[in-house]
Amino acid sequence: MFRKSIYKSAAQLRAMVEPGLITAAALDAVRPLIRAGVTTLELDAEANRVILARGAESNFQLVRGYRHTTCISVNEEVVHGIPGERMLQAGDIVSIDCGAQYQGWNGDSAITVVVPDDARPELVAQRAELSRVTEGSMWAGIAAMATASHIGDLGAAIQGYIEAQGPSSVSGLPYGILREYVGHGIGRKMHEAPSVFNYRTPDPGAEVKPGLVLAIEPMVTAGGEETFVEDDDWTVSTVDGTDGSHWEHSVARHEGGIWVLTAPDGGAAGLAPFGVTPTPIA
Ligand code: MG
Ligand code: MG
Repeated sequence: MFRKSIYKSAAQLRAMVEPGLITAAALDAVRPLIRAGVTTLELDAEANRVILARGAESNFQLVRGYRHTTCISVNEEVVHGIPGERMLQAGDIVSIDCGAQYQGWNGDSAITVVVPDDARPELVAQRAELSRVTEGSMWAGIAAMATASHIGDLGAAIQGYIEAQGPSSVSGLPYGILREYVGHGIGRKMHEAPSVFNYRTPDPGAEVKPGLVLAIEPMVTAGGEETFVEDDDWTVSTVDGTDGSHWEHSVARHEGGIWVLTAPDGGAAGLAPFGVTPTPIA
């Protein structure tokens, strides 16, 4: 059986820089528009506008049965929320997932933002904490990619980071990590082998070495880990109704180290607390 290598050449890694930057630009354009009163469809339109203006196309629109540029998941929705007429409200926690395909190569990234709410500072603080823990766990996983021997080391780093944060200030319970949804390889296709688990696994998984490009994307809840798919057949929500957060970057391991393709600074700011300095792809 012919199996395509999961490892990419240096030239292929270089080809993934631009779609990563376009994906980052789309999310950067959407971020300041996230406020009470905006619809999720309006945010989606802005992401699509930026991607098309850069000569790229939305890779989410290439997913069978999906016709939007982003997934936007609000409050108890964790991932795969469909943009629509829903109007964001003060205090909402909003995860936006987006990707661009450019000259046949893909980027994939997600951010979480909490809509300001002066009347409910405690709610905002709790939701900001969930987002911070989720983002931090993503950076822990990315940092591990600089030194890991196998992909399983990334899941251990992500879970270890989350456990070290202690219990959620909302539920008093440990933060939950979605088990059924995972990160993935990325390249010519948005979703490629191998899977990247956000938790410890008995199997060490594939070797981490130059040429590996992964979308690292922890999905974390302020409560239980059980989810269900809403009647729209896409949106993944928590069973217990607690909030969810999702952060994601596409990251390359190359001969010189690691580089976060979907961050304009290559991940320098996010990796600094972990003592890792990203190196541009030569
Ligand atoms: Mg994504
Ligand atoms: Mg992804």
